[in-house]
Amino acid sequence: MQSISADKIFDGYQFLEAHLAIGIDEIGTIISIHQKNENTIHYDGMLLPGMINCHCHLELSHLKNELPEKTGLLGFIKNIVSKRTDFSPAFIQEKIVEAEKEMIQNGIVAVGDISNGLDTFAIKNKTNIYYHTFVECFGLDENYASTIIEKAKYIKNEFEKYSNASIVLHAPYSVTEKLIEEIKNESTQKIGTIHNQETSSENELFEKGTGAMKDFFTQAFPITPQWNATNKTSLQNYFSHFKSFKNSILVHNTFTSKTDIDFAKSIDTNTFWCLCPNANIYIENALPNAGLLYQENCQVVFGTDSLASNHALNIYEEMKIIQQHFPQIPFEKLLQSITAVGAKALGIDEQFGSFEVGKKPGIVLIKNDKEISVIK
Ligand SMILES: [Zn+2]
Repeated sequence: MQSISADKIFDGYQFLEAHLAIGIDEIGTIISIHQKNENTIHYDGMLLPGMINCHCHLELSHLKNELPEKTGLLGFIKNIVSKRTDFSPAFIQEKIVEAEKEMIQNGIVAVGDISNGLDTFAIKNKTNIYYHTFVECFGLDENYASTIIEKAKYIKNEFEKYSNASIVLHAPYSVTEKLIEEIKNESTQKIGTIHNQETSSENELFEKGTGAMKDFFTQAFPITPQWNATNKTSLQNYFSHFKSFKNSILVHNTFTSKTDIDFAKSIDTNTFWCLCPNANIYIENALPNAGLLYQENCQVVFGTDSLASNHALNIYEEMKIIQQHFPQIPFEKLLQSITAVGAKALGIDEQFGSFEVGKKPGIVLIKNDKEISVIK
């Protein structure tokens, strides 16, 4: 057994008392939490469990620096659709490998990764990182709902050969009622996720049945849903469907209000609010009200989103953006979000997210609040 300690040790829930050290075996399993002794190795900085990235799109890594910033969500969608297939399969694979390496170097041990296809199949089979693949569905013509779900089932079955996967919705504005029903049938008691309230026109679409998002989709597609005014926000329209999921990870939440949070609390699912602040700044130049989410005791987790809308895949830096803008949030709460709470969201807290005897969570050292190294 090796005994290690540091200036500070965050165990996934709180900082350990200064006299304590962690005992680990050669593969990084936590054997004990004990008093420091003469054999304890001391590290300068803070030790914490391997970090959890609850929202990424590894398959978009080749789009790093390709899409202009601050175009708004609709501009971003337009650009990504025109750009994403302009690259060779070999280049796409090369960039996926580089992106995973970057996440490992940044102390990330588990990823909730959105996939539309099988581009990330090869890397996920290597299990360098734990992946839960979210096979994402979208489509505005309900006549295609069965075709979309059949394709998603095929992709999910492939990923499930080597890792966990579930079929999920892309966003409230990109699915039909029929497709939602199909997804619910496939993913009952699984982990669901959705891009939630990422732009203000998403709320307007559902509340008033008007706005830039409605214009965008009705011009782009021959068949779309009616989107009649409901006087309810996006979340309040769709979220009751999420009671069929065991865990629900809502991603972005940039335009989520207290009323939305209250509504979400009334739905019988284990809800997690995933923040991807750098992507929000890249796309919308806006930030979610993280202070409100923590104040309301919501389970907050973090994601990097993809390199199409971010300059790095670094969960610690994502957390620091929120810390800078919302200094009232206790540091321990933020650290919980990137460790123990993230692991709970992905349903992997038996192994990851905390320094507890028997777990093998990965051990990360952070020096000077930014230099990240992986100890185990
Ligand atoms: Zn995303």
